[in-house]
Amino acid sequence: MLNIAFIAHDRKKEDIVNLAVAYEHVFKDKKLYSTGTTGQRIMEATSLKIHRFLSGPLGGDQQIGAMIAQNEMDLVIFMRDPLMAQPHEPDITALLRLCDVHGIPVATNMATAEILIKALDRGDFGWRELVELHKPKAE
Ligand code: PGA
Repeated sequence: MLNIAFIAHDRKKEDIVNLAVAYEHVFKDKKLYSTGTTGQRIMEATSLKIHRFLSGPLGGDQQIGAMIAQNEMDLVIFMRDPLMAQPHEPDITALLRLCDVHGIPVATNMATAEILIKALDRGDFGWRELVELHKPKAE
């Protein structure tokens, strides 16, 4: 099953909730992860079940980063705020770097997120299912 991560900075939380509501049908049969508050907000607005890690500033980005490092994340929706400095900027940079290291599709704005989710819905992520066969077994 494909693993998807949701992260949104505070002024982008409404956007990610809207995205989750609009594409709930695409996400409902995937394994979902998030940082703390983002996941809480999405679960309040949808019937999606999400494994919530710590809040971003407390290490949630790094926890998601650890899954990316093991090539266990298939899509990252990271609605970051480009107009506000974040206390955990190094963690954000590290997470995006790991996405590039492992070639993980990552969206940092609504336009890219919609394109990737539509691709996911069409079945364009089949190549990630193949990667899954070769993933290190964490469980
Ligand atoms: P949060 O973390 O979902 O707990 O707010 C996201 C962030 O701000 O990095």
